[in-house]
Amino acid sequence: MSNKDLLGRRNFIKGFGAAAGVAIAAPALAVSEKADGVKWDKEVEVLIIGSGFAGLAAAIEATRKGAKDVHIFEKMSYFGGNSAINGGLFAAPGTPMQKEEGVKDSVETMVADQLASGRGIADEALLRHVAEHAVEALQMTLDAGSEYHPYLQQLGGHSVARTYQTTVSCGAGITQPLLHECRKLGVHTHNRAKFEGFLVGDKGEVVGVKMRDNYHFGEDQPGKVTNIRATRGVIMATGGFAQNVDLRMAQDPTLTSEVGCTNAPGATGEGMYEMFRLGAIPVHLAHIQSGPWASPDEGGFGYVSNYSIYNFPHSMAVNRLTGKRFMNEIADRKTRADAELNCRDEKGNALPPILITSYKDSKKHPNTKKVIKYNVGWKFDSVEELAKHFDVPLAPLKAQITEYNEYVKTGNDKQFGKNMTKAKDKYIEAPFTVVRLWPKVHYCQGGVQVNTNAEVKDSFTGKSIPGLYAAGEVCGGIHGVSRLGSCSIPECMVMGMTAARSMMKA
Ligand SMILES: Cc1cc2nc3c(=O)[nH]c(=O)nc-3n(C[C@H](O)[C@H](O)[C@H](O)COP(=O)(O)OP(=O)(O)OC[C@H]3O[C@@H](n4cnc5c(N)ncnc54)[C@H](O)[C@@H]3O)c2cc1C
Repeated sequence: MSNKDLLGRRNFIKGFGAAAGVAIAAPALAVSEKADGVKWDKEVEVLIIGSGFAGLAAAIEATRKGAKDVHIFEKMSYFGGNSAINGGLFAAPGTPMQKEEGVKDSVETMVADQLASGRGIADEALLRHVAEHAVEALQMTLDAGSEYHPYLQQLGGHSVARTYQTTVSCGAGITQPLLHECRKLGVHTHNRAKFEGFLVGDKGEVVGVKMRDNYHFGEDQPGKVTNIRATRGVIMATGGFAQNVDLRMAQDPTLTSEVGCTNAPGATGEGMYEMFRLGAIPVHLAHIQSGPWASPDEGGFGYVSNYSIYNFPHSMAVNRLTGKRFMNEIADRKTRADAELNCRDEKGNALPPILITSYKDSKKHPNTKKVIKYNVGWKFDSVEELAKHFDVPLAPLKAQITEYNEYVKTGNDKQFGKNMTKAKDKYIEAPFTVVRLWPKVHYCQGGVQVNTNAEVKDSFTGKSIPGLYAAGEVCGGIHGVSRLGSCSIPECMVMGMTAARSMMKA
Protein backbone atom coordinates (compact mmCIF):
# COMPACT_ATOMS: atom_id res chain seq x y z
CA MET A 1 0.00 0.00 0.00
CA SER A 2 1.02 3.58 -0.38
CA ASN A 3 2.10 4.31 3.14
CA LYS A 4 3.82 7.45 2.04
CA ASP A 5 1.24 10.11 1.24
CA LEU A 6 -1.59 10.07 3.71
CA LEU A 7 -2.77 13.59 3.21
CA GLY A 8 -3.01 14.02 -0.49
CA ARG A 9 -1.44 17.34 0.56
CA ARG A 10 -4.82 18.99 0.64
CA ASN A 11 -5.18 18.83 4.41
CA PHE A 12 -1.65 19.66 5.17
CA ILE A 13 -1.43 22.42 7.71
CA LYS A 14 -4.80 23.71 6.59
CA GLY A 15 -7.13 24.83 9.29
CA PHE A 16 -4.46 25.45 11.84
CA GLY A 17 -4.91 28.17 14.36
CA ALA A 18 -8.53 27.64 15.27
CA ALA A 19 -7.70 26.94 17.70
CA ALA A 20 11.55 -1.00 37.68
CA GLY A 21 10.22 1.75 39.81
CA VAL A 22 13.50 3.55 40.24
CA ALA A 23 13.21 5.77 43.27
CA ILE A 24 14.35 9.24 42.37
CA ALA A 25 14.45 12.15 44.76
CA ALA A 26 12.53 15.29 43.90
CA PRO A 27 14.50 17.40 41.41
CA ALA A 28 16.67 20.21 42.71
CA LEU A 29 14.44 23.24 43.00
CA ALA A 30 14.80 25.53 40.05
CA VAL A 31 13.94 29.20 40.34
CA SER A 32 12.67 31.50 37.65
CA GLU A 33 13.94 35.06 37.75
CA LYS A 34 13.35 38.48 36.30
CA ALA A 35 15.44 38.89 33.20
CA ASP A 36 16.11 42.51 34.13
CA GLY A 37 19.86 43.16 34.12
CA VAL A 38 20.69 39.54 33.33
CA LYS A 39 23.83 38.92 31.29
CA TRP A 40 22.84 36.85 28.25
CA ASP A 41 25.32 34.15 27.34
CA LYS A 42 23.58 33.20 24.11
CA GLU A 43 20.64 34.16 21.91
CA VAL A 44 18.49 31.75 19.87
CA GLU A 45 15.28 32.17 17.88
CA VAL A 46 13.17 29.11 18.89
CA LEU A 47 14.09 27.35 22.13
CA ILE A 48 12.67 23.87 22.75
CA ILE A 49 13.20 21.89 25.93
CA GLY A 50 12.91 18.10 25.51
CA SER A 51 13.69 15.82 22.59
CA GLY A 52 10.69 13.44 22.49
CA PHE A 53 7.87 13.41 19.94
CA ALA A 54 6.62 16.85 21.04
CA GLY A 55 10.01 18.60 20.93
CA LEU A 56 11.11 17.00 17.65
CA ALA A 57 7.80 17.72 15.87
CA ALA A 58 7.91 21.32 17.15
CA ALA A 59 11.45 21.80 15.82
CA ILE A 60 10.62 20.44 12.36
CA GLU A 61 7.45 22.49 12.10
CA ALA A 62 9.13 25.71 13.31
CA THR A 63 11.77 25.28 10.61
CA ARG A 64 9.13 24.58 7.97
CA LYS A 65 7.39 27.77 9.04
CA GLY A 66 10.52 29.81 8.44
CA ALA A 67 12.49 29.76 11.69
CA LYS A 68 16.22 29.96 11.00
CA ASP A 69 17.71 29.26 14.39
CA VAL A 70 15.95 26.42 16.22
CA HIS A 71 17.50 24.71 19.25
CA ILE A 72 16.49 21.59 21.17
CA PHE A 73 17.94 21.18 24.67
CA GLU A 74 17.88 17.72 26.28
CA LYS A 75 19.11 16.98 29.80
CA MET A 76 20.02 13.33 29.21
CA SER A 77 23.11 12.12 27.33
CA TYR A 78 20.79 10.60 24.70
CA PHE A 79 17.86 12.04 22.77
CA GLY A 80 14.26 10.82 22.63
CA GLY A 81 13.01 10.46 26.25
CA ASN A 82 10.01 8.17 26.71
CA SER A 83 9.23 8.60 23.03
CA ALA A 84 12.29 6.61 21.97
CA ILE A 85 11.42 3.62 24.16
CA ASN A 86 7.72 3.64 23.49
CA GLY A 87 5.75 0.98 21.61
CA GLY A 88 5.56 2.86 18.31
CA LEU A 89 1.73 2.60 18.29
CA PHE A 90 0.13 5.57 16.53
CA ALA A 91 -3.65 6.11 16.30
CA ALA A 92 -5.21 8.24 13.58
CA PRO A 93 -8.71 8.37 12.06
CA GLY A 94 -9.39 8.26 8.32
CA THR A 95 -6.11 6.73 7.14
CA PRO A 96 -5.52 4.91 3.83
CA MET A 97 -4.86 1.67 5.71
CA GLN A 98 -8.33 1.91 7.28
CA LYS A 99 -9.76 2.31 3.78
CA GLU A 100 -7.87 -0.76 2.59
CA GLU A 101 -9.05 -2.83 5.56
CA GLY A 102 -12.62 -1.55 5.18
CA VAL A 103 -12.64 0.17 8.58
CA LYS A 104 -15.12 3.02 8.88
CA ASP A 105 -13.75 5.74 11.14
CA SER A 106 -13.85 9.51 11.64
CA VAL A 107 -12.55 12.28 13.87
CA GLU A 108 -15.89 12.17 15.71
CA THR A 109 -15.62 8.42 16.39
CA MET A 110 -12.07 8.70 17.70
CA VAL A 111 -13.00 11.65 19.92
CA ALA A 112 -16.07 9.76 21.21
CA ASP A 113 -13.90 6.75 22.16
CA GLN A 114 -11.48 9.01 24.03
CA LEU A 115 -14.25 10.91 25.79
CA ALA A 116 -15.68 7.61 27.04
CA SER A 117 -12.31 6.58 28.45
CA GLY A 118 -11.84 10.10 29.89
CA ARG A 119 -14.98 9.50 32.00
CA GLY A 120 -16.41 13.00 31.63
CA ILE A 121 -13.34 15.10 32.42
CA ALA A 122 -11.34 14.99 29.17
CA ASP A 123 -10.87 18.16 27.11
CA GLU A 124 -13.03 17.70 24.05
CA ALA A 125 -11.65 20.71 22.15
CA LEU A 126 -8.08 19.46 22.51
CA LEU A 127 -9.01 15.88 21.63
CA ARG A 128 -10.77 17.10 18.49
CA HIS A 129 -7.84 19.35 17.54
CA VAL A 130 -5.45 16.40 17.86
CA ALA A 131 -7.71 13.96 15.98
CA GLU A 132 -8.20 16.48 13.16
CA HIS A 133 -4.45 16.82 12.68
CA ALA A 134 -3.33 13.27 13.52
CA VAL A 135 -2.92 12.26 9.87
CA GLU A 136 -0.66 15.28 9.29
CA ALA A 137 1.53 14.13 12.15
CA LEU A 138 1.60 10.58 10.78
CA GLN A 139 2.59 12.06 7.43
CA MET A 140 5.45 13.98 9.09
CA THR A 141 6.85 10.67 10.36
CA LEU A 142 6.51 9.03 6.93
CA ASP A 143 8.19 11.99 5.25
CA ALA A 144 11.06 11.61 7.71
CA GLY A 145 11.37 7.88 6.90
CA SER A 146 9.37 6.00 9.55
CA GLU A 147 8.08 2.60 8.47
CA TYR A 148 4.94 0.87 9.72
CA HIS A 149 3.62 -2.70 9.73
CA PRO A 150 1.18 -3.22 6.84
CA TYR A 151 -1.74 -3.94 9.20
CA LEU A 152 -3.79 -2.02 11.76
CA GLN A 153 -4.35 -2.96 15.39
CA GLN A 154 -7.41 -2.38 17.55
CA LEU A 155 -6.31 -1.36 21.02
CA GLY A 156 -8.36 -1.37 24.23
CA GLY A 157 -11.15 1.22 24.31
CA HIS A 158 -10.95 1.97 20.57
CA SER A 159 -14.19 1.05 18.81
CA VAL A 160 -12.35 0.29 15.54
CA ALA A 161 -8.87 -0.66 14.34
CA ARG A 162 -7.02 2.63 13.84
CA THR A 163 -3.53 2.04 15.20
CA TYR A 164 -0.37 1.89 13.10
CA GLN A 165 2.80 0.44 14.59
CA THR A 166 6.39 0.99 13.51
CA THR A 167 8.07 -2.07 11.98
CA VAL A 168 10.57 -2.01 14.85
CA SER A 169 7.61 -2.04 17.30
CA CYS A 170 9.26 0.85 19.11
CA GLY A 171 9.05 4.65 19.24
CA ALA A 172 12.67 4.89 18.08
CA GLY A 173 11.25 4.02 14.66
CA ILE A 174 9.82 7.55 14.80
CA THR A 175 12.24 9.54 16.98
CA GLN A 176 15.34 8.49 15.04
CA PRO A 177 13.97 9.61 11.65
CA LEU A 178 12.60 12.83 13.22
CA LEU A 179 15.95 13.57 14.87
CA HIS A 180 17.69 12.91 11.57
CA GLU A 181 15.22 15.22 9.83
CA CYS A 182 15.85 17.93 12.44
CA ARG A 183 19.56 17.78 11.80
CA LYS A 184 19.02 17.80 8.04
CA LEU A 185 16.99 20.98 8.47
CA GLY A 186 19.74 22.58 10.54
CA VAL A 187 18.09 22.31 13.96
CA HIS A 188 20.72 22.53 16.71
CA THR A 189 20.48 19.66 19.17
CA HIS A 190 22.15 19.85 22.59
CA ASN A 191 22.33 16.97 25.04
CA ARG A 192 23.37 17.07 28.73
CA ALA A 193 21.67 20.49 28.81
CA LYS A 194 19.23 20.85 31.67
CA PHE A 195 16.54 23.50 31.87
CA GLU A 196 16.65 25.08 35.32
CA GLY A 197 14.22 27.99 35.17
CA PHE A 198 12.64 30.78 33.16
CA LEU A 199 13.86 34.32 32.68
CA VAL A 200 10.90 36.63 32.68
CA GLY A 201 10.40 40.11 31.23
CA ASP A 202 8.65 43.12 32.78
CA LYS A 203 5.19 42.10 31.56
CA GLY A 204 5.51 38.52 32.78
CA GLU A 205 6.55 37.24 29.36
CA VAL A 206 9.08 34.42 29.03
CA VAL A 207 12.17 35.86 27.35
CA GLY A 208 14.69 33.10 28.01
CA VAL A 209 15.82 30.25 30.22
CA LYS A 210 18.56 29.25 32.60
CA MET A 211 20.30 26.16 31.28
CA ARG A 212 22.88 23.94 32.96
CA ASP A 213 25.60 22.66 30.62
CA ASN A 214 27.39 19.36 30.96
CA TYR A 215 24.61 17.92 33.11
CA HIS A 216 24.99 14.33 34.29
CA PHE A 217 21.65 12.84 35.33
CA GLY A 218 21.58 11.56 38.90
CA GLU A 219 25.03 12.98 39.81
CA ASP A 220 26.24 16.12 41.56
CA GLN A 221 26.01 18.94 39.10
CA PRO A 222 29.33 20.45 38.15
CA GLY A 223 28.05 22.11 34.94
CA LYS A 224 27.78 25.84 34.48
CA VAL A 225 24.44 27.67 34.30
CA THR A 226 24.06 29.91 31.27
CA ASN A 227 21.35 32.46 30.42
CA ILE A 228 19.86 31.86 26.98
CA ARG A 229 17.62 34.44 25.36
CA ALA A 230 14.84 33.15 23.07
CA THR A 231 13.70 35.81 20.61
CA ARG A 232 10.48 34.05 19.60
CA GLY A 233 9.77 32.05 22.72
CA VAL A 234 10.15 28.77 24.57
CA ILE A 235 8.38 25.44 23.93
CA MET A 236 8.30 23.15 26.94
CA ALA A 237 8.22 19.51 25.81
CA THR A 238 9.67 17.93 28.94
CA GLY A 239 7.35 14.93 29.24
CA GLY A 240 5.67 13.36 32.27
CA PHE A 241 6.75 12.68 35.85
CA ALA A 242 6.09 8.95 36.35
CA GLN A 243 9.69 8.29 37.44
CA ASN A 244 9.58 10.88 40.19
CA VAL A 245 8.39 8.80 43.10
CA ASP A 246 7.98 11.76 45.47
CA LEU A 247 5.88 13.69 42.99
CA ARG A 248 3.71 10.75 41.98
CA MET A 249 3.22 9.68 45.61
CA ALA A 250 2.16 13.23 46.47
CA GLN A 251 -0.72 12.65 44.04
CA ASP A 252 -1.34 8.99 44.80
CA PRO A 253 0.37 7.50 47.89
CA THR A 254 -0.13 3.96 46.57
CA LEU A 255 2.38 4.57 43.75
CA THR A 256 5.44 3.83 45.85
CA SER A 257 8.89 2.94 44.54
CA GLU A 258 7.79 -0.72 44.83
CA VAL A 259 5.36 -0.23 41.97
CA GLY A 260 7.00 -0.97 38.63
CA CYS A 261 7.28 1.83 36.07
CA THR A 262 7.65 1.71 32.29
CA ASN A 263 9.18 5.17 31.88
CA ALA A 264 12.65 6.42 30.98
CA PRO A 265 14.60 7.68 34.02
CA GLY A 266 14.43 11.33 32.91
CA ALA A 267 10.64 11.52 33.38
CA THR A 268 10.96 13.52 36.61
CA GLY A 269 8.68 16.50 35.97
CA GLU A 270 10.73 19.55 36.98
CA GLY A 271 9.84 21.43 33.78
CA MET A 272 6.16 21.08 34.63
CA TYR A 273 6.66 22.28 38.20
CA GLU A 274 8.64 25.29 37.03
CA MET A 275 5.69 26.26 34.81
CA PHE A 276 3.39 26.00 37.85
CA ARG A 277 5.74 28.36 39.69
CA LEU A 278 5.29 30.80 36.83
CA GLY A 279 1.51 30.63 37.18
CA ALA A 280 0.46 27.76 34.88
CA ILE A 281 -2.68 25.88 35.93
CA PRO A 282 -2.23 22.30 37.22
CA VAL A 283 -4.81 19.87 35.79
CA HIS A 284 -5.59 16.25 36.72
CA LEU A 285 -2.25 15.55 38.40
CA ALA A 286 -3.67 12.64 40.40
CA HIS A 287 -4.68 10.76 37.27
CA ILE A 288 -1.63 8.60 36.78
CA GLN A 289 -2.20 5.67 34.46
CA SER A 290 -1.00 2.11 34.95
CA GLY A 291 -0.50 -0.13 31.92
CA PRO A 292 -2.62 -3.33 32.17
CA TRP A 293 -0.47 -5.15 29.61
CA ALA A 294 2.73 -5.15 31.66
CA SER A 295 4.37 -8.23 33.14
CA PRO A 296 5.68 -8.72 36.69
CA ASP A 297 8.32 -11.07 35.24
CA GLU A 298 10.47 -8.38 33.57
CA GLY A 299 11.54 -4.77 34.12
CA GLY A 300 9.82 -1.74 32.53
CA PHE A 301 7.87 -2.12 29.27
CA GLY A 302 9.89 -5.23 28.42
CA TYR A 303 8.79 -7.65 25.71
CA VAL A 304 5.45 -8.68 27.15
CA SER A 305 3.71 -5.27 26.90
CA ASN A 306 3.77 -5.07 23.11
CA TYR A 307 3.10 -8.80 22.90
CA SER A 308 -0.07 -8.56 24.98
CA ILE A 309 -1.27 -5.29 23.40
CA TYR A 310 -1.27 -7.13 20.08
CA ASN A 311 -2.80 -10.35 21.46
CA PHE A 312 -5.49 -9.05 23.87
CA PRO A 313 -8.24 -8.93 21.17
CA HIS A 314 -8.00 -12.71 20.57
CA SER A 315 -6.96 -13.86 24.04
CA MET A 316 -8.55 -14.75 27.33
CA ALA A 317 -7.43 -13.16 30.63
CA VAL A 318 -7.95 -15.54 33.55
CA ASN A 319 -7.97 -15.13 37.32
CA ARG A 320 -5.73 -17.93 38.64
CA LEU A 321 -7.76 -18.35 41.82
CA THR A 322 -11.05 -19.04 40.01
CA GLY A 323 -9.98 -20.26 36.56
CA LYS A 324 -12.46 -17.75 35.10
CA ARG A 325 -12.20 -14.59 33.01
CA PHE A 326 -12.47 -11.40 35.05
CA MET A 327 -12.51 -8.55 32.49
CA ASN A 328 -13.11 -7.44 28.92
CA GLU A 329 -9.61 -7.92 27.50
CA ILE A 330 -9.94 -4.81 25.33
CA ALA A 331 -11.62 -2.45 27.78
CA ASP A 332 -9.84 0.85 28.40
CA ARG A 333 -6.65 0.78 30.42
CA LYS A 334 -8.06 1.88 33.76
CA THR A 335 -10.87 -0.67 33.67
CA ARG A 336 -8.37 -3.46 32.99
CA ALA A 337 -5.67 -2.28 35.43
CA ASP A 338 -8.24 -2.02 38.24
CA ALA A 339 -9.58 -5.50 37.42
CA GLU A 340 -6.07 -7.00 37.45
CA LEU A 341 -5.22 -5.39 40.79
CA ASN A 342 -8.28 -7.15 42.23
CA CYS A 343 -6.81 -10.57 41.38
CA ARG A 344 -5.70 -11.79 44.83
CA ASP A 345 -5.20 -15.08 46.60
CA GLU A 346 -7.28 -16.08 49.65
CA LYS A 347 -5.00 -14.03 51.92
CA GLY A 348 -5.30 -10.93 49.75
CA ASN A 349 -1.82 -11.18 48.26
CA ALA A 350 -1.26 -10.19 44.63
CA LEU A 351 -1.93 -13.09 42.27
CA PRO A 352 -1.02 -11.86 38.77
CA PRO A 353 -3.62 -13.12 36.29
CA ILE A 354 -2.66 -14.90 33.07
CA LEU A 355 -3.32 -14.10 29.43
CA ILE A 356 -3.97 -17.25 27.40
CA THR A 357 -3.55 -17.14 23.61
CA SER A 358 -3.42 -19.87 20.98
CA TYR A 359 0.20 -20.22 19.98
CA LYS A 360 -0.73 -20.15 16.29
CA ASP A 361 -2.26 -16.67 16.69
CA SER A 362 0.27 -15.28 19.15
CA LYS A 363 3.27 -16.24 17.05
CA LYS A 364 2.33 -13.65 14.42
CA HIS A 365 3.72 -11.02 16.78
CA PRO A 366 7.51 -10.60 16.58
CA ASN A 367 7.87 -10.52 20.38
CA THR A 368 6.43 -14.02 20.90
CA LYS A 369 9.77 -15.75 20.35
CA LYS A 370 11.52 -13.37 22.74
CA VAL A 371 8.83 -13.69 25.40
CA ILE A 372 9.35 -17.46 25.42
CA LYS A 373 13.13 -17.28 25.02
CA TYR A 374 13.55 -14.95 28.02
CA ASN A 375 11.14 -16.90 30.24
CA VAL A 376 8.63 -14.11 30.61
CA GLY A 377 6.07 -16.15 28.71
CA TRP A 378 5.51 -19.89 28.35
CA LYS A 379 4.26 -22.36 25.76
CA PHE A 380 2.05 -25.29 26.83
CA ASP A 381 0.85 -28.25 24.77
CA SER A 382 -2.24 -28.91 26.86
CA VAL A 383 -4.62 -27.16 29.20
CA GLU A 384 -3.66 -29.65 31.95
CA GLU A 385 -0.03 -28.61 31.70
CA LEU A 386 -0.97 -24.94 31.76
CA ALA A 387 -3.30 -25.31 34.76
CA LYS A 388 -0.68 -27.23 36.72
CA HIS A 389 2.06 -24.69 36.00
CA PHE A 390 -0.01 -21.75 37.25
CA ASP A 391 -1.96 -23.66 39.90
CA VAL A 392 -5.30 -22.83 38.25
CA PRO A 393 -8.35 -25.04 39.01
CA LEU A 394 -8.62 -27.25 35.91
CA ALA A 395 -12.37 -27.88 35.58
CA PRO A 396 -13.44 -24.19 35.69
CA LEU A 397 -10.62 -23.29 33.30
CA LYS A 398 -11.70 -25.94 30.79
CA ALA A 399 -15.31 -24.76 31.09
CA GLN A 400 -14.22 -21.16 30.60
CA ILE A 401 -12.30 -22.00 27.42
CA THR A 402 -15.34 -23.79 26.00
CA GLU A 403 -17.57 -20.87 26.92
CA TYR A 404 -15.18 -18.28 25.46
CA ASN A 405 -14.85 -20.23 22.22
CA GLU A 406 -18.63 -20.05 21.89
CA TYR A 407 -18.30 -16.24 21.99
CA VAL A 408 -15.65 -16.44 19.26
CA LYS A 409 -18.11 -18.47 17.19
CA THR A 410 -21.13 -16.20 17.73
CA GLY A 411 -19.22 -12.92 17.91
CA ASN A 412 -21.08 -12.13 21.13
CA ASP A 413 -19.23 -12.05 24.46
CA LYS A 414 -21.99 -12.64 27.00
CA GLN A 415 -19.60 -12.37 29.95
CA PHE A 416 -17.97 -8.97 29.45
CA GLY A 417 -19.29 -7.52 26.18
CA LYS A 418 -15.89 -7.61 24.48
CA ASN A 419 -15.86 -6.50 20.84
CA MET A 420 -15.08 -9.85 19.16
CA THR A 421 -14.36 -8.50 15.66
CA LYS A 422 -10.62 -9.14 15.86
CA ALA A 423 -11.20 -12.52 17.56
CA LYS A 424 -13.06 -13.92 14.55
CA ASP A 425 -12.01 -17.56 13.90
CA LYS A 426 -9.32 -17.27 16.58
CA TYR A 427 -10.36 -20.03 18.98
CA ILE A 428 -8.44 -20.65 22.18
CA GLU A 429 -6.78 -23.98 21.36
CA ALA A 430 -3.61 -25.85 22.33
CA PRO A 431 -0.76 -25.27 22.07
CA PHE A 432 -1.08 -22.09 24.14
CA THR A 433 1.19 -19.14 24.85
CA VAL A 434 0.74 -17.63 28.31
CA VAL A 435 2.08 -14.50 30.02
CA ARG A 436 1.42 -13.08 33.47
CA LEU A 437 -0.05 -9.58 33.81
CA TRP A 438 0.39 -6.88 36.47
CA PRO A 439 -0.06 -3.11 35.95
CA LYS A 440 2.92 -0.71 35.96
CA VAL A 441 2.95 3.09 36.31
CA HIS A 442 2.96 4.30 32.75
CA TYR A 443 1.56 7.71 31.90
CA CYS A 444 0.66 11.02 33.55
CA GLN A 445 -2.68 12.39 32.42
CA GLY A 446 -2.01 15.50 34.49
CA GLY A 447 0.19 18.49 33.74
CA VAL A 448 -0.10 22.16 32.78
CA GLN A 449 -3.24 23.39 31.10
CA VAL A 450 -2.89 24.44 27.45
CA ASN A 451 -5.37 25.60 24.82
CA THR A 452 -5.64 24.50 21.19
CA ASN A 453 -2.82 26.95 20.32
CA ALA A 454 -0.53 25.15 22.82
CA GLU A 455 -0.43 28.34 24.89
CA VAL A 456 -0.06 28.07 28.65
CA LYS A 457 -2.65 29.94 30.66
CA ASP A 458 -1.63 32.05 33.64
CA SER A 459 -3.83 31.30 36.66
CA PHE A 460 -3.35 34.85 37.97
CA THR A 461 -4.17 36.84 34.82
CA GLY A 462 -6.41 34.30 33.08
CA LYS A 463 -4.45 35.02 29.87
CA SER A 464 -1.81 33.02 28.02
CA ILE A 465 1.72 33.55 29.29
CA PRO A 466 3.47 35.38 26.44
CA GLY A 467 6.48 33.59 24.98
CA LEU A 468 5.58 30.23 26.56
CA TYR A 469 4.14 27.15 24.84
CA ALA A 470 3.85 23.54 26.02
CA ALA A 471 3.25 20.25 24.22
CA GLY A 472 3.20 16.53 24.97
CA GLU A 473 2.93 14.65 28.22
CA VAL A 474 3.94 17.71 30.26
CA CYS A 475 0.42 19.02 29.51
CA GLY A 476 -2.63 17.83 31.42
CA GLY A 477 -6.35 17.41 31.13
CA ILE A 478 -6.53 16.33 27.51
CA HIS A 479 -7.35 12.68 28.14
CA GLY A 480 -9.22 12.94 31.44
CA VAL A 481 -9.23 9.89 33.73
CA SER A 482 -7.69 7.40 31.30
CA ARG A 483 -5.77 7.89 28.03
CA LEU A 484 -6.39 5.35 25.28
CA GLY A 485 -3.35 3.45 23.99
CA SER A 486 -1.63 4.89 20.88
CA CYS A 487 -3.19 8.33 21.44
CA SER A 488 -0.14 9.96 23.00
CA ILE A 489 2.04 9.95 19.86
CA PRO A 490 -0.54 11.87 17.81
CA GLU A 491 -1.17 14.22 20.74
CA CYS A 492 2.52 14.97 21.35
CA MET A 493 3.25 15.49 17.68
CA VAL A 494 0.17 17.54 16.82
CA MET A 495 0.61 19.76 19.88
CA GLY A 496 4.35 20.14 19.16
CA MET A 497 3.51 21.22 15.61
CA THR A 498 0.78 23.48 16.99
CA ALA A 499 3.15 25.16 19.44
CA ALA A 500 5.59 25.88 16.62
CA ARG A 501 2.87 27.30 14.37
CA SER A 502 1.52 29.52 17.16
CA MET A 503 4.96 30.79 17.98
CA MET A 504 5.79 31.55 14.36
CA LYS A 505 2.52 33.47 13.99
CA ALA A 506 2.87 35.48 17.21
C1 LIG B 1 7.43 2.23 27.51
C2 LIG B 1 6.40 3.16 26.95
C3 LIG B 1 5.63 2.76 25.86
C4 LIG B 1 4.71 3.64 25.31
N1 LIG B 1 4.05 3.28 24.18
C5 LIG B 1 3.24 4.17 23.57
C6 LIG B 1 2.71 3.90 22.30
O1 LIG B 1 3.02 2.88 21.68
N2 LIG B 1 1.87 4.82 21.74
C7 LIG B 1 1.55 6.01 22.37
O2 LIG B 1 0.78 6.79 21.82
N3 LIG B 1 2.10 6.30 23.59
C8 LIG B 1 2.94 5.45 24.18
N4 LIG B 1 3.55 5.78 25.35
C9 LIG B 1 3.38 7.14 25.89
C10 LIG B 1 4.26 8.11 25.09
O3 LIG B 1 5.43 7.46 24.68
C11 LIG B 1 4.67 9.34 25.89
O4 LIG B 1 3.52 9.93 26.42
C12 LIG B 1 5.40 10.30 24.97
O5 LIG B 1 6.59 9.71 24.51
C13 LIG B 1 5.73 11.62 25.65
O6 LIG B 1 6.43 12.39 24.70
P1 LIG B 1 6.96 13.81 25.10
O7 LIG B 1 7.60 14.39 23.90
O8 LIG B 1 5.89 14.60 25.76
O9 LIG B 1 8.02 13.50 26.25
P2 LIG B 1 9.31 12.56 26.25
O10 LIG B 1 9.38 11.69 25.08
O11 LIG B 1 9.38 11.92 27.59
O12 LIG B 1 10.48 13.61 26.10
C14 LIG B 1 10.71 14.59 27.11
C15 LIG B 1 12.20 14.85 27.13
O13 LIG B 1 12.44 16.00 27.94
C16 LIG B 1 13.63 15.77 28.68
N5 LIG B 1 13.62 16.64 29.87
C17 LIG B 1 12.85 16.52 30.97
N6 LIG B 1 13.14 17.51 31.84
C18 LIG B 1 14.12 18.25 31.27
C19 LIG B 1 14.88 19.40 31.70
N7 LIG B 1 14.70 19.95 32.91
N8 LIG B 1 15.82 19.91 30.86
C20 LIG B 1 16.05 19.34 29.62
N9 LIG B 1 15.38 18.23 29.20
C21 LIG B 1 14.43 17.71 30.00
C22 LIG B 1 13.55 14.30 29.04
O14 LIG B 1 14.82 13.78 29.38
C23 LIG B 1 12.99 13.70 27.74
O15 LIG B 1 14.00 13.29 26.86
C24 LIG B 1 4.49 4.91 25.91
C25 LIG B 1 5.24 5.30 27.02
C26 LIG B 1 6.20 4.44 27.53
C27 LIG B 1 7.01 4.88 28.70
